[in-house]
Amino acid sequence: MTAANDALTSEIPVPEGVKDNIFITSLDKIYNWSRRNSLWPMGFGLACCAIEMICTAASRYDLARFGMEVFRASPRQADLMIVSGTVTKKMIPIIVRLYNQMPEPRYVLSMGACANGGGPFKEGYNVLDGVDKLVPVDVYVPGCPPTPQALINGLITLQEKIDQQSIVTAPWYRKNTPGEFVPVPVLGPDLVDLRQIDLIRDAVGEQSTEIAQGTEVEDLTPEVQDA
Ligand code: SF4
Repeated sequence: MTAANDALTSEIPVPEGVKDNIFITSLDKIYNWSRRNSLWPMGFGLACCAIEMICTAASRYDLARFGMEVFRASPRQADLMIVSGTVTKKMIPIIVRLYNQMPEPRYVLSMGACANGGGPFKEGYNVLDGVDKLVPVDVYVPGCPPTPQALINGLITLQEKIDQQSIVTAPWYRKNTPGEFVPVPVLGPDLVDLRQIDLIRDAVGEQSTEIAQGTEVEDLTPEVQDA
């Protein structure tokens, strides 16, 4: 501050009355300071973890201390998605659609064992084993369910991540750098990630060739039944 004060006194004429109220900082610091303290989460919850998230926003833990209490009903007004609960294959297309509708800069926090990796339902036919299979996650909060304190710790971790970003290199201000768009997966007999469509096509092609040539196709059904 001494160097800054010297600069103020020597080069810039500052009225005597406001001299003690002037701070010098970098653009990145002031920009990140305002963003980290005004994250607006999207108002949606998926399962039991959502109750802990709601509790975090209530008066006992009070997310308003972090400027994060404004849960928005529209993805277009939110910059933080808290995935709180079990991600079913039926729900993930909607989650991806909501993620795509959020403006940049946007962040995703995965809350609880279910969102992180399927949790107790990992082997379930209807559950996705981790929301990060489809949506990029910034912070993972472990637990089943994580307590409000754990969620707050995750949010503080996200704030620290935001502190490291720079207005110069942030992709959302750069020309010809579109935000990350995730194709909405299709739910048929199972979930189809459209980013892997070439892989799926190749695998299906190989299998049809084997059938056409009369080569035996590996049948896993007996093994599954034995297990
Ligand atoms: S992690 Fe535990 S508390 Fe959270 S949604 Fe899954 S089962 Fe419920």
